[in-house]
Amino acid sequence: MNLLIFLSDRCNMSCDYCFLDLNHGRATVIPEEAALKAVDAHLEKFGAEARFTILGGEPLIHFPVLRTIAGRVHAKAPKAPMSVVTNGTLACPEKLSTLESLGVSVTVSLDGRGDAHDRHRKLAGGPGSSLEESLKALEACDKSGLRANMVVCRDTVDSLLSNVEFLRETGFKELSFHLNVIEEWTPDELRVLEKTLAGFARYYKALQAASPGALRLSHIDSYPETALEHGYEDVVLGADGRYYPCDGLFALPYRQLDRWSVGDAASGVDWGKREDWHRVAREFIHPRLERPGHFSCARETYFRSVVLNLDPDPVVRSFHAADEIMGTALRALGSSEAHAGPR
Ligand code: SF4
Repeated sequence: MNLLIFLSDRCNMSCDYCFLDLNHGRATVIPEEAALKAVDAHLEKFGAEARFTILGGEPLIHFPVLRTIAGRVHAKAPKAPMSVVTNGTLACPEKLSTLESLGVSVTVSLDGRGDAHDRHRKLAGGPGSSLEESLKALEACDKSGLRANMVVCRDTVDSLLSNVEFLRETGFKELSFHLNVIEEWTPDELRVLEKTLAGFARYYKALQAASPGALRLSHIDSYPETALEHGYEDVVLGADGRYYPCDGLFALPYRQLDRWSVGDAASGVDWGKREDWHRVAREFIHPRLERPGHFSCARETYFRSVVLNLDPDPVVRSFHAADEIMGTALRALGSSEAHAGPR
């Protein structure tokens, strides 16, 4: 059971595929007390099964709160897996070493070379290269212990291989992939994805043969089928201190999320209400999956479509078709299951 904790609705970037409503109106920042209460409740309920993912917007904007939350988890359950997903622009060796000492693994969202990365990832403050900002901040940091997460879009598939090579040359030794959850792929684009991943497989096998362990792969959307039987594995705590059935709902501003909330940090998760929403999602999604292997983000795709008033049917089918291709290719290369939230 993974508790996703969203620290705020602020980010210094403005990515066009971001699934969060960010930087509008008054900031919503998680009250520290609510976050700590949620951590305690999660540990109490799930014990050794509990894990934590801390997200933003950009979580390093709120480093003191992040450190306090991570410190609480570490003090109570030093072995609980804990990760942070950041765009890297505010990283520095001191922050990363503090996180490491608290047992937090760090994922940096980087899509590869500038023409792929900057195409979708813009700086919130105006022009400039977000890739350059991230790399500048990371320059003095040891990147070998960080994971890079690459969002793959229809229009960046063709440069996937050179983007991987770029991240490897930059110093990353672990890489995960995440599809843009809200694109509709045409049959032709799916064929390009398949072909590209076949080329990537050849590259990866040659790399492993020449230098074993040079690059580890993980696939964020890959979930065991048991997740289908036992319900969804995330508990989502929004920056407003309330629980939600899925983070895809954060495509709406927090003030419009009333009807979706399934409890708050003070009173705890309303598990019945959460299950009701999940049942609705399951009943919609299941018939649209050819093979229910990759599920978590089909849910995110579904909820995000619903709140954006899109017809979820083609979006869910399309996402799933692309995810099947990517998941199958990466699993064949020994990719391990990973977890994250925003990109
Ligand atoms: S995807 Fe990440 S870096 Fe980009 S706007 Fe969203 S939270 Fe910020």
